[in-house]
Amino acid sequence: MANTKIKCKCGGKIVSDKTLIEGFLVDCLKCQKCDEILFSPKQAKDVLRLREKNKRIEAKRKIIKVGSSIAAILPKKIEDFGVKEGMIDTIRILSSNSLEIKFKKDLF
Ligand SMILES: [Zn+2]
Repeated sequence: MANTKIKCKCGGKIVSDKTLIEGFLVDCLKCQKCDEILFSPKQAKDVLRLREKNKRIEAKRKIIKVGSSIAAILPKKIEDFGVKEGMIDTIRILSSNSLEIKFKKDLF
């Protein structure tokens, strides 16, 4: 986590962090003292971009059985982001009703 030189209005030190906004996990700046969350112009733009990208792939999906595993079918449009088979790095539980699928490289 890189430290920034910006100070919070409370005088606290601001550090890079990640936060969930609208269900998106995004980079943000956080005051270590009062927990105020701030976004740099680039980070604010990233939230808009995520919302836009998500609109394109949002859909209800089924889970199917493949051999002894189960599989979730990803929308075909996700290929536009360069996603190919074998690219998944890690999968973890993000919240009580969501999983995070992390890819080996940035999608955009
Ligand atoms: Zn503060």
